[in-house]
Amino acid sequence: MKPPPFAYARAGSVAEALELLADAGEDAKLLAGGQSLIPLLAYRLARPSHLVDIGRIPGLSDVATGPDGLRVQALVTHAALQSRADLTGPWRAVRECAGLIGHYPVRTRGTFGGSISHGDPSAELPVVALALEAEFVLRSPGGERLVRAEDFFAGPFMTVLEPTEMLVQARFPAAGAGRLSAFEEFSTRAGDFASAATAVALTPDETGRVHQVRIALGGVGPVPARAAEAEAALEGAPLDEAAIAAAARAAAADCRAGEDGALIPVLVERALRRIREER
Ligand SMILES: Cc1cc2nc3c(=O)[nH]c(=O)nc-3n(C[C@H](O)[C@H](O)[C@H](O)COP(=O)(O)OP(=O)(O)OC[C@H]3O[C@@H](n4cnc5c(N)ncnc54)[C@H](O)[C@@H]3O)c2cc1C
Repeated sequence: MKPPPFAYARAGSVAEALELLADAGEDAKLLAGGQSLIPLLAYRLARPSHLVDIGRIPGLSDVATGPDGLRVQALVTHAALQSRADLTGPWRAVRECAGLIGHYPVRTRGTFGGSISHGDPSAELPVVALALEAEFVLRSPGGERLVRAEDFFAGPFMTVLEPTEMLVQARFPAAGAGRLSAFEEFSTRAGDFASAATAVALTPDETGRVHQVRIALGGVGPVPARAAEAEAALEGAPLDEAAIAAAARAAAADCRAGEDGALIPVLVERALRRIREER
C-alpha cells in the first residue's frame, strides 16, 4: 500500500530538527532509519502530518568508550554497533544484540535512537539498555533532560518521549574493572524479532563470587523488565552450575502472570554460562 500523504523536511542539525518538529505540531514524526516508521506508513498504521528527516544530521553517529562509560549517539546504526570489536567485557551485550536485529540491510539503516524511541516490546536494544542501566539524553527546544532506561518505556510502542523531544544520545555508566555482560535471544527464524531475550551484566570478585548482578528480560511483557528475583538469587554467589540453575528458575518466576516465560530460564542459563567462560 502507498503511505498516506505527509509533508517532508530534512534537518541539517539537531536544533533545526527540533524547530521543524515544534513548528509542525503534535502529528509530526522524526524519521531516522525508517525501518519501523516506513512500514507503519505503508500499512497506514501511522498517519503523521509531517516527517522530519534526521537521518543525515552530521555528528550524531559516534560510539565512544572511556572512563565515563559508553556513549552511543542516536544515529549509530545496528550494523555499526555490531562491527565494533572494542565492545567487549561490560559492553559485549550491546554488540551481541545489535548483530541479532533483523537482517543485515535492516541493520545498516536502522538506528539506535530509532529502536529505543519506537519502544517495541520485542526489540533487543531496550533490553540491553535496561540491564546496563543506560540513561537517554532527550533534547527539546526547552533544553535537555536525562531519563533512565527503567523510566523510559511506558508500554508497548509507548515511551515518555514528548512530541517535541528527540533522543540524541544514550549514556551507559562506567563499568568497574572486570565487569562482564552477555545477550541471548530466541527467535523462530534468523533475523526475526525475539520471542524472548535476556541481557545480563555482573562483576565477579577475586574469589569468583558475582556482584551488581543485572538481568533484564524482553519479549515477555509490555516493556522490558528487570528480573529482580533472579538478580537476588545470584548476588554474592559463585557462578557455578547450582547458582546458574537457581537464577534461571527465579527468572521464570520474575515473568508476570499471563506472560510466556517458558524460554527465559534457558536464555538466562546460556548468558550466564558464556559469561563464566569469558572470565
Ligand atoms: C524486516 C525487518 C526486521 C526487523 N527486525 C527487527 C528485530 O529483530 N529487532 C528490532 O529491534 N528491530 C527490528 N526491526 C526494526 C529496526 O531495527 C528499526 O531500525 C528500529 O526499530 C527503528 O530504527 P529506525 O532508525 O529505522 O527508526 P525509524 O523507523 O525512522 O523511526 C522509528 C520511530 O522512532 C522515532 N524516532 C526515530 N529516531 C528518533 C530519535 N532520535 N528521537 C526520537 N524519536 C525517534 C520515529 O519518529 C518513529 O516513531 C526490523 C525492521 C524490519 C524492516
